[in-house]
Amino acid sequence: MELNLASIPKEELEEIKQSVFLTTLEELKAWARSNSLWPLTFGLACCAIEMMGVGASHYDLDRFGSFFRTSPRQSDVMIVSGTVTKKMGPVLKRLYDQMPEPKWVIAMGSCATAGGPYIKSYAVVKGVDQIVPVDVYIPGCPPNPAALIYGINKLKEKIRYEAKTGKKVI
Ligand code: SF4
Repeated sequence: MELNLASIPKEELEEIKQSVFLTTLEELKAWARSNSLWPLTFGLACCAIEMMGVGASHYDLDRFGSFFRTSPRQSDVMIVSGTVTKKMGPVLKRLYDQMPEPKWVIAMGSCATAGGPYIKSYAVVKGVDQIVPVDVYIPGCPPNPAALIYGINKLKEKIRYEAKTGKKVI
């Protein structure tokens, strides 16, 4: 049946416009996902202390719908906070592979981003993006919890933007 908008009284039409919104299923899913990111803790060094701070009462990440999980199977975002050694690389990759799709990665701090102060070390990976794809990089040595919250918010924006435009942001 075709809806004839002209037959609807003006006040009623205004009311309908204010209570109905149109979207796509993909955008709706992205909105829900972005507001309930469950990070897998991957604390590897000093940056992990700042990551722990974000879950404590002062910064209280829970209020944004993000709860740290200890199982990769219940997580959709991996926060790599700390120095990734070459020995740890395969373990990190295995846990990443165990996370269900869709999934995202945040590289927290200069070590996870590019090797940090250990850039000349033979034992350190020069950025976790050599092992898994990274969505958000957070600079700093270490970045504070507020910077991590900012990075998580950037990831939320990215998830929604990609769903809206169908374009992958690299
Ligand atoms: S970036 Fe700095 S604070 Fe973070 S793990 Fe590396 S050395 Fe530690």
